[in-house]
Amino acid sequence: MANIKRSPWLLHYDGSSCNGCDIEVLACLTPVYDAERLGVMNTGDPMQADILLITGGVNAQNAPVVKQLYDQMPNPKVVVAVGVCACTGGVFKDCYNILGGADTVIPVDVYVPGCAARPQAIIDGIIQAVEIFQKRSDDYKVEEKARKSGKEVQVNG
Ligand code: SF4
Repeated sequence: MANIKRSPWLLHYDGSSCNGCDIEVLACLTPVYDAERLGVMNTGDPMQADILLITGGVNAQNAPVVKQLYDQMPNPKVVVAVGVCACTGGVFKDCYNILGGADTVIPVDVYVPGCAARPQAIIDGIIQAVEIFQKRSDDYKVEEKARKSGKEVQVNG
Protein backbone atom coordinates (compact mmCIF):
# COMPACT_ATOMS: atom_id res chain seq x y z
CA MET A 1 0.00 0.00 0.00
CA ALA A 2 1.21 3.48 -0.89
CA ASN A 3 2.38 5.82 1.88
CA ILE A 4 -0.75 7.26 3.41
CA LYS A 5 -0.32 10.81 4.63
CA ARG A 6 -3.54 11.03 6.59
CA SER A 7 -6.35 8.73 7.73
CA PRO A 8 -9.34 8.78 5.37
CA TRP A 9 -12.76 8.69 7.03
CA LEU A 10 -15.31 6.24 5.69
CA LEU A 11 -19.09 6.56 5.47
CA HIS A 12 -21.09 3.33 5.20
CA TYR A 13 -24.53 3.57 3.57
CA ASP A 14 -26.95 0.67 3.24
CA GLY A 15 -28.97 1.21 0.06
CA SER A 16 -31.46 -1.61 -0.24
CA SER A 17 -29.21 -4.37 1.02
CA CYS A 18 -30.59 -7.56 2.57
CA ASN A 19 -28.07 -6.77 5.36
CA GLY A 20 -25.86 -9.70 4.35
CA CYS A 21 -23.16 -7.38 3.04
CA ASP A 22 -23.63 -4.99 5.98
CA ILE A 23 -22.89 -7.75 8.45
CA GLU A 24 -19.64 -8.38 6.59
CA VAL A 25 -18.82 -4.65 6.62
CA LEU A 26 -19.31 -4.68 10.40
CA ALA A 27 -17.05 -7.73 10.63
CA CYS A 28 -14.33 -5.59 9.02
CA LEU A 29 -14.48 -3.30 12.06
CA THR A 30 -13.97 -6.11 14.57
CA PRO A 31 -10.49 -6.98 15.90
CA VAL A 32 -10.39 -10.04 13.60
CA TYR A 33 -10.20 -7.95 10.40
CA ASP A 34 -9.70 -4.49 11.91
CA ALA A 35 -10.01 -2.06 8.96
CA GLU A 36 -8.83 0.74 11.26
CA ARG A 37 -5.31 -0.65 11.13
CA LEU A 38 -5.27 0.79 7.58
CA GLY A 39 -5.82 4.22 9.08
CA VAL A 40 -9.50 4.26 8.08
CA MET A 41 -12.01 5.70 10.54
CA ASN A 42 -15.75 5.02 10.35
CA THR A 43 -17.96 8.11 10.47
CA GLY A 44 -21.68 8.81 10.21
CA ASP A 45 -21.18 12.30 8.80
CA PRO A 46 -20.88 12.64 4.99
CA MET A 47 -19.33 16.09 5.40
CA GLN A 48 -16.39 14.48 7.22
CA ALA A 49 -16.13 11.45 4.92
CA ASP A 50 -13.54 10.76 2.22
CA ILE A 51 -14.69 7.28 1.20
CA LEU A 52 -18.32 6.25 0.61
CA LEU A 53 -18.89 2.53 1.04
CA ILE A 54 -22.30 1.50 -0.27
CA THR A 55 -24.17 -1.80 -0.07
CA GLY A 56 -27.40 -2.81 -1.79
CA GLY A 57 -28.97 -1.75 -5.05
CA VAL A 58 -30.33 1.66 -5.97
CA ASN A 59 -34.09 2.16 -6.13
CA ALA A 60 -36.34 5.17 -6.71
CA GLN A 61 -36.54 5.87 -2.98
CA ASN A 62 -32.85 5.77 -2.10
CA ALA A 63 -31.43 7.21 -5.36
CA PRO A 64 -31.78 10.85 -4.18
CA VAL A 65 -30.29 9.90 -0.79
CA VAL A 66 -27.25 8.26 -2.39
CA LYS A 67 -26.78 11.31 -4.63
CA GLN A 68 -27.16 13.71 -1.70
CA LEU A 69 -24.68 11.82 0.49
CA TYR A 70 -22.18 11.84 -2.37
CA ASP A 71 -22.70 15.56 -3.00
CA GLN A 72 -22.26 16.36 0.71
CA MET A 73 -18.84 14.73 0.81
CA PRO A 74 -15.92 17.11 0.25
CA ASN A 75 -13.53 16.65 -2.68
CA PRO A 76 -11.52 14.56 -3.25
CA LYS A 77 -13.66 11.47 -2.56
CA VAL A 78 -13.82 7.80 -3.48
CA VAL A 79 -16.78 5.41 -3.80
CA VAL A 80 -16.69 1.67 -3.09
CA ALA A 81 -19.63 -0.55 -4.12
CA VAL A 82 -19.75 -3.64 -1.88
CA GLY A 83 -21.56 -6.77 -3.06
CA VAL A 84 -23.16 -7.56 -6.39
CA CYS A 85 -26.30 -5.60 -5.50
CA ALA A 86 -24.29 -2.37 -5.14
CA CYS A 87 -22.13 -3.28 -8.15
CA THR A 88 -24.91 -4.07 -10.64
CA GLY A 89 -28.24 -4.53 -8.86
CA GLY A 90 -27.36 -8.22 -8.49
CA VAL A 91 -30.15 -10.77 -8.46
CA PHE A 92 -32.64 -7.91 -8.11
CA LYS A 93 -31.38 -6.13 -11.25
CA ASP A 94 -34.49 -6.68 -13.39
CA CYS A 95 -36.99 -6.22 -10.58
CA TYR A 96 -39.51 -3.43 -11.06
CA ASN A 97 -38.19 -1.54 -8.02
CA ILE A 98 -34.42 -1.66 -8.68
CA LEU A 99 -32.73 0.90 -10.93
CA GLY A 100 -29.34 -0.86 -10.79
CA GLY A 101 -26.05 -0.58 -8.94
CA ALA A 102 -24.64 2.49 -7.18
CA ASP A 103 -23.16 3.72 -10.46
CA THR A 104 -26.70 4.37 -11.66
CA VAL A 105 -26.56 7.65 -9.72
CA ILE A 106 -22.95 8.33 -8.68
CA PRO A 107 -19.48 7.46 -10.03
CA VAL A 108 -18.06 4.28 -8.48
CA ASP A 109 -14.30 3.77 -8.22
CA VAL A 110 -14.01 0.29 -6.69
CA TYR A 111 -16.31 -2.70 -7.21
CA VAL A 112 -16.19 -5.45 -4.57
CA PRO A 113 -17.91 -8.60 -5.85
CA GLY A 114 -19.62 -11.28 -3.78
CA CYS A 115 -22.99 -12.18 -2.31
CA ALA A 116 -22.30 -11.49 0.38
CA ALA A 117 -18.93 -9.81 -0.17
CA ARG A 118 -16.37 -11.46 2.11
CA PRO A 119 -14.53 -9.31 4.69
CA GLN A 120 -11.22 -10.05 2.95
CA ALA A 121 -12.65 -8.71 -0.34
CA ILE A 122 -14.07 -5.63 1.44
CA ILE A 123 -10.69 -4.92 3.07
CA ASP A 124 -9.07 -5.27 -0.35
CA GLY A 125 -11.60 -2.77 -1.74
CA ILE A 126 -10.87 -0.36 1.11
CA ILE A 127 -7.13 -0.59 0.43
CA GLN A 128 -7.76 0.24 -3.24
CA ALA A 129 -9.98 3.14 -2.17
CA VAL A 130 -7.31 4.48 0.21
CA GLU A 131 -4.72 4.39 -2.59
CA ILE A 132 -7.07 6.17 -5.00
CA PHE A 133 -7.89 8.72 -2.29
CA GLN A 134 -4.21 9.41 -1.62
CA LYS A 135 -3.53 9.93 -5.34
CA ARG A 136 -6.54 12.25 -5.68
CA SER A 137 -5.50 14.20 -2.57
CA ASP A 138 -2.01 14.72 -3.99
CA ASP A 139 -3.44 15.83 -7.35
CA TYR A 140 -5.95 18.08 -5.61
CA LYS A 141 -3.18 19.84 -3.70
CA VAL A 142 -1.21 20.42 -6.93
CA GLU A 143 -4.34 21.80 -8.61
CA GLU A 144 -5.12 24.04 -5.62
CA LYS A 145 -1.57 25.40 -5.58
CA ALA A 146 -1.72 26.06 -9.32
CA ARG A 147 -5.12 27.71 -8.99
CA LYS A 148 -3.82 30.04 -6.32
CA SER A 149 -0.75 30.94 -8.38
CA GLY A 150 -2.91 31.43 -11.51
CA LYS A 151 -1.10 28.71 -13.50
CA GLU A 152 -2.76 25.95 -15.51
CA VAL A 153 -1.81 22.40 -14.59
CA GLN A 154 -2.43 19.02 -16.24
CA VAL A 155 -3.15 16.24 -13.70
CA ASN A 156 -3.41 12.66 -14.93
CA GLY A 157 -5.74 9.99 -13.51
S1 SF4 B 1 -24.96 -8.87 -2.59
FE1 SF4 B 1 -26.09 -10.58 -1.60
S2 SF4 B 1 -25.66 -10.35 0.59
FE2 SF4 B 1 -25.11 -8.40 -0.39
S3 SF4 B 1 -26.94 -7.11 -0.19
FE3 SF4 B 1 -27.07 -8.19 -2.19
S4 SF4 B 1 -28.27 -10.05 -1.78
FE4 SF4 B 1 -27.58 -9.26 0.21
